[in-house]
Amino acid sequence: IKADLALYSAKAGGKGQIVEFHESMDTDYRLRQRLKTDLKHAIATGGLHLVYQPVVDLRENRIIGCEALARWNHPELGNIPPSTFIPIAEETGLISDLTRFVLDMATRDCRSWPGEISVAVNVSARDFRASDVEGMINTALENSLLPARRLEIEVTETAVIEERDVVNSVLLSLYTRGIGVALDDFGTGYSSLSYLQALPLTKLKIDRSFVMDIETNPRSIRLLANVAQLGKDLDLVITAEGIETEAQLDLIMAKTRIDHVQGFLFGVPLPTADIVRLIERHQAAPEEPARRMVADR
Ligand code: C2E
Ligand code: MG
Ligand code: MG
Ligand code: MG
Repeated sequence: IKADLALYSAKAGGKGQIVEFHESMDTDYRLRQRLKTDLKHAIATGGLHLVYQPVVDLRENRIIGCEALARWNHPELGNIPPSTFIPIAEETGLISDLTRFVLDMATRDCRSWPGEISVAVNVSARDFRASDVEGMINTALENSLLPARRLEIEVTETAVIEERDVVNSVLLSLYTRGIGVALDDFGTGYSSLSYLQALPLTKLKIDRSFVMDIETNPRSIRLLANVAQLGKDLDLVITAEGIETEAQLDLIMAKTRIDHVQGFLFGVPLPTADIVRLIERHQAAPEEPARRMVADR
């Protein structure tokens, strides 16, 4: 069953690998049914947990926030990637409970971090249609006592296109209250520029695919710089996702107006206790580059 899961996850996009189609529909179906049941149980019994990936401000050279990422360690099957279980949660309607859990946990954890570090939570398209996103956010903020300005909501470009009207009105209300609103995976979802301009956003997160080959392809760094400039023209803060190497960082600093960076070079997603240690170490030695602080730990 572990091999079936690996194949299933790969097909769901988990590892981004290409998998040959073969006679596994039946296994797929049974595996999906099993994952549905088990995910429901996991959400209800505390079987999911969160890890946090630091986001670094390039100009100030410091960690300014963290993105909350859900993890599911299945008792028998081991780690199941979000690219497998999030779509299952969306299709089964379990996503509301999952998002509520993430909002509650992330706001409480963030409240215990030193300084003004913010936390970003991913909200899915389906939440806007089926869950009371605003109500869940209000409850999380009230219970955690986290100031609204330290919470950021990430929505994918695809969600915005699919659920246009409801997304727009919810985002406007969040934006008005000072909650950060980031458009995630930007550049992968074909949103029209005129529509983008009308959205109440604070931040664009440029998808990792724009960063991946900037070292080897001069066109890619020009494209990245232009996408970033487009966001700057809309007065948005720009984050680049998926920075893995020093060479990518050097190019980004030299050729683009990107404000924030996130990626394995600055830190993999970590449990909240490690994030606290990281921030404390960083605040104790602010002159050290944030990427060294993270890489050295
Ligand atoms: P995302 O929101 O774009 O999150 C960033 C993903 O990129 C994370 O994958 C992160 O671990 C990965 N990443 C960060 N830096 C690097 C890097 O330098 N190189 C590479 N190769 N990858 C990097 P993860 O945690 O597997 O999550 C995948 C996606 O699943 C997320 O993409 C998000 O769309 C979704 N997801 C994760 N947690 C949640 C959640 O709590 N709720 C919802 N609705 N979606 C979630
Ligand atoms: Mg995200
Ligand atoms: Mg993203
Ligand atoms: Mg992405």
